[in-house]
Amino acid sequence: MVQQMTTPAPESSAYATALAQFDTVAERLRLEEGIRGILRAPRRELTVNFPVHMDDGSIHVFTGYRVQHSLARGPAKGGIRYHSSVDLDEVRALAMWMTWKCAVVNIPYGGAKGGVTVDTGALSQRELEGLTRRFASEISIIIGPEKDIPGPDVGTNEQVMAWIMDTISMHQGYSISGVVTGKPVGIGGTVGRREATGRGVSIVIREALKAAGRPLEGTTVVIQGFGNVGTHAARLLQDMGCVVVGVSDTSGGFANPGGLDLLDILRFKQGGGRLTDYSGEGERLSGGEVIELPCDVLVPAALEGQINGANADRVRASLVAEGANGPTTPDGDAILYDRGVQVIPDVLANAGGVTVSYFEWVQDLQNHFWGEMEVVQNLERVLTTAYGQVAAMAAAEQVDMRTAANMLAVQRVAEALTVRGIYP
Ligand code: NAD
Repeated sequence: MVQQMTTPAPESSAYATALAQFDTVAERLRLEEGIRGILRAPRRELTVNFPVHMDDGSIHVFTGYRVQHSLARGPAKGGIRYHSSVDLDEVRALAMWMTWKCAVVNIPYGGAKGGVTVDTGALSQRELEGLTRRFASEISIIIGPEKDIPGPDVGTNEQVMAWIMDTISMHQGYSISGVVTGKPVGIGGTVGRREATGRGVSIVIREALKAAGRPLEGTTVVIQGFGNVGTHAARLLQDMGCVVVGVSDTSGGFANPGGLDLLDILRFKQGGGRLTDYSGEGERLSGGEVIELPCDVLVPAALEGQINGANADRVRASLVAEGANGPTTPDGDAILYDRGVQVIPDVLANAGGVTVSYFEWVQDLQNHFWGEMEVVQNLERVLTTAYGQVAAMAAAEQVDMRTAANMLAVQRVAEALTVRGIYP
């Protein structure tokens, strides 16, 4: 009999969503109870409470986490999130999703995630650096190029990755570029990483439209969340012929049924602007309204739980491509499914980021760097293969793409666990 060691997640949490999704798939795969127990619980969880000197001379104690969900298929991989809502359950969910994501695209990684509960907007650059370096020190006992490789997520960026890489390198006395991905190119990062997740989103949307016999040209797209994932997805989809008719950030949304001037909005955002203050051609909306805009394709690219039981019946898109992790709750998912809305799940739709992170890590280990064409071609190959395999599984099993992707992933991880056996 396998005992569940972690505390049950509250019903509405991302972790409850992740566990519910896993249970559905484990049941369908008739997964053996022991394997089910291993995969249901995170392998390792580290919580750290650490002090940071603030600019006003005070000391503030922050809380951070690093959770490794699985190491069965290789070193753990997953981003680090800085956000005021970060808690252990959220990090557990994100770590589990990373395991499935790496397995769906068949790269040799397990899954992990990290985070610090912090409002970065309230920190100076010096405080942010101090927090990052101390957090990196605290989690250095479990991360490393062969063990667990962090990358960027919400609230973290190339600069934060550079500080983590430098901190770990200072501990060892030499440069260890392979300890993080998403670094600046000048210190071992890869070309093509910055736009990789958005590029992946655009590739899977292209594949879905192709399979449905629908043209890219003139397809209308709405994007919730205009950060790293959302901006690059918007730009690349526009390059493919799509028309972006709505975008949003935390401050609110902006829409124009005839197509937005993306370049102008990008310039405005790069200057530190919030969409609520944008005054280009179009109409201002609340953040929530963006999800309900008429369009062909909706890309939630912000945070978890944005499409849920309360608004899923008002989604007007026929295709949802999950740029964010966990943007749809299980009840939202069920409503979309009943209404015939196709959902390309996060573990496939946003896997472009971790795939190019894998390319970065490979380049760091070999000290041999690729050109942009090599990165983009390899990303195309990995994602189109994964899309085809998930679509084939969905057709064979008569299930939605999320269940199919998770079945493919859980099966691969379960196989690795089974063949490795239980130590000792
Ligand atoms: P980011 O911090 O660069 O951008 C997040 C954006 O979402 C910001 O524009 C913010 O204003 C907006 N936002 C937050 N809450 C919102 C809300 N309620 N309504 C509208 N907009 C809102 O983060 P990111 O790296 O783009 O990540 C976005 C999502 O994609 C997260 O779920 C992340 O886990 C996931 N993801 C990111 C990557 C990556 O490579 N960056 C890879 C895979 C998945």
